[in-house]
Amino acid sequence: MGGMRTLIWFHRDIRLHDHAGLSLALARKDELHATVIQPLNAGPAKLAHWQALVENFRQNLNLLHIPLTILPSESELPHLARETRSDVIFTHERMNFRDQQALNELQTKLPCSLEIHGELTLYSSAQVRNLELNALKPFTRFKKFAEAHWQVPDEIETALTDQSLGLERLKDYIWKTKAVLHYHKTRNGLMEFNDSSKLSPWLAWGVLSPRRIYFELQKFRAHTSQHEGIDALVFELIWRDYFKFLSTLQGESFFTRDGLRPTPFEYSTNDKIFEAWTKGQTGEDFVDAHMRELLKTGWMSNRGRQNVASYLAKTLKLDWLPGAEWFESQLIDEDPENNFGNWQYLAGVGTDPRDRVFNIQRQADIYDLERAYRAKWLS
Ligand code: FAD
Repeated sequence: MGGMRTLIWFHRDIRLHDHAGLSLALARKDELHATVIQPLNAGPAKLAHWQALVENFRQNLNLLHIPLTILPSESELPHLARETRSDVIFTHERMNFRDQQALNELQTKLPCSLEIHGELTLYSSAQVRNLELNALKPFTRFKKFAEAHWQVPDEIETALTDQSLGLERLKDYIWKTKAVLHYHKTRNGLMEFNDSSKLSPWLAWGVLSPRRIYFELQKFRAHTSQHEGIDALVFELIWRDYFKFLSTLQGESFFTRDGLRPTPFEYSTNDKIFEAWTKGQTGEDFVDAHMRELLKTGWMSNRGRQNVASYLAKTLKLDWLPGAEWFESQLIDEDPENNFGNWQYLAGVGTDPRDRVFNIQRQADIYDLERAYRAKWLS
């Protein structure tokens, strides 16, 4: 073909590798323009992280002579399409109801066509769209089914290599430090950087594709006889897929208070207590330390997230939706499917077959017996 003017909207796939839209446009020798849209309502740490990764991406694109325009909101996209005289806009598929709705609305305002190229998951989403929601209940059943019937598709060849901090982190975690070998033992740790992979700040924005991580893990697996850590990490990547697929099959209720079933108990709202929770001033020191870490850095461990979410929804019995929205505004690895999916699960309105409540004191004793974590964030 050739001669097409293509605007690629990099959204949760801000990278050069494993990129279906970019690969197609390069193969066709299209004239390319790139755009990214700044996330709305982002707290300082989240915004700074996003800006840094976009700046890094701009440098990668510069080497390919592809100009990048950063837009303040999606409503500016039609204007940019006109200005660049684009024939078509490429963007990756949307998984959750909210993003799909936004895309549908936007599409009616565009001066050109919009094509979907690219998936966000490890397994292909095409095969999930035909499933019933019940196939995802519970997670273990879904995982067994996926492993028995599906294969992780190969990466899309773009013949381009990003110079990105995400790929550096991947190399470091797997090959240099080999910290992945002890992942299964340390993943709940609160203090050490290598306790868990810390890949999510890159994965959430698509700086790293999940398939790149998966195949890098498989390569490493062939070099060692110790597989527990590697397999445990793949297990978590399947959880990531799970919430994305759940959001697609669940539709609108993925973002509602009642989720998949009516809330098991009455929620109340109390702005003062909620604000104390956000600021790490509830008086429950294990919760407060985590909430202060989040406020300051935009990060919190998975163990911490489970505890503070359970505390808000099950102990304080406050509405969990503002909690999920608070996380959404603050997390540097903010990801709508993983965030709302995990919150729904912990609030007891998701697919968790057990209605569990975290005992905060017990959790603090197990994971912070010496109080080092609390001392770090409460001082
Ligand atoms: P690792 O333990 O090294 O795991 C590797 C990867 O597996 C992660 O990067 C992530 O992509 C995936 N993963 C790990 N745990 C989970 C999980 N529980 N659910 C789904 N995928 C998982 N993760 C996000 O990426 N963005 C979010 O906005 C987000 N919000 C969350 C909110 C709550 C209330 C809870 C309980 C969890 C949330 N998670 C979210 C999941 C998890 O906490 C983070 O993915 C993990 O802490 C990231 O650290 P890591 O990369 O070192 O994880």
